[in-house]
Amino acid sequence: MSVAGLIDTHCHLDAAEFDTDRDTQRQRAHALGVTHCVIPAVTRAHWAGVRDLAHRHQDRYALGIHPLYVMRAEADDGTALRQALATAIDDPALVAVGEIGLDGFDGHPDMDRQLFWFRQQLIIAREFGLPVILHVRRAVDAVLRELRRCPVAGGIAHAFNGSAQQAQMFIDLGFALGFGGALTFERALQLRRLAVELPLTALVLETDAPDIPPQWLYRSAEQRAQGLPQGRNSPTELPRIAGQLAGLRGMDAQELAQACAANARRVLRWPTETLT
Ligand code: ZN
Repeated sequence: MSVAGLIDTHCHLDAAEFDTDRDTQRQRAHALGVTHCVIPAVTRAHWAGVRDLAHRHQDRYALGIHPLYVMRAEADDGTALRQALATAIDDPALVAVGEIGLDGFDGHPDMDRQLFWFRQQLIIAREFGLPVILHVRRAVDAVLRELRRCPVAGGIAHAFNGSAQQAQMFIDLGFALGFGGALTFERALQLRRLAVELPLTALVLETDAPDIPPQWLYRSAEQRAQGLPQGRNSPTELPRIAGQLAGLRGMDAQELAQACAANARRVLRWPTETLT
């Protein structure tokens, strides 16, 4: 199977999991048809790194503070984000503010602190007219509520897992929904149904590498207890993930790749004339 022009709209290529083979993985993905990766930042300490990495591979990046990293955020990180965005605003590789959002999973940082930083960053995205890359886990309604209070220039709800109605609310607010490794599991019936029933114009592809391994890399808790490490997701998996989504939708993989890439360019800040 050969697919060209894929965009991995969510790839943490700067993560430590890629320290030994980052460039090799990126080049291999490119050879498999992944023309661009979008690398969202998770903390201020990563901002310079994701920018440099994106430039090295003609990729794209986003700057922001991830909801699971708000405990590390300093009081002046909002000022620092404004400064970093002001510096990067003429950089065609900057496509969004991100990764920002809310995570309602048990044991994750306290919601007041998450809300504080999510609201701050929505205001900042709005000031700069930038779209946002959203992390939305067990907090779909709360994220939608904040977006209505502080509308931004659309973006992507990454690793979307909500209802059809919630998906439609994101679409109405100018967002596309990110689909990746989670849909490769046969038991993910609801997610698969959603990925099939949503309009093609609402979909973008992603890996969330090194996380959310697809079914063929996933190791169960039992396997991990026996010493098998969890599989590492990589942008090299995107063509196969795209192939699965195309299969579910009963369409040609190349056609799907092209449509999803066009959607990504539409919802992100992606000047057409500048970089390749
Ligand atoms: Zn992420």
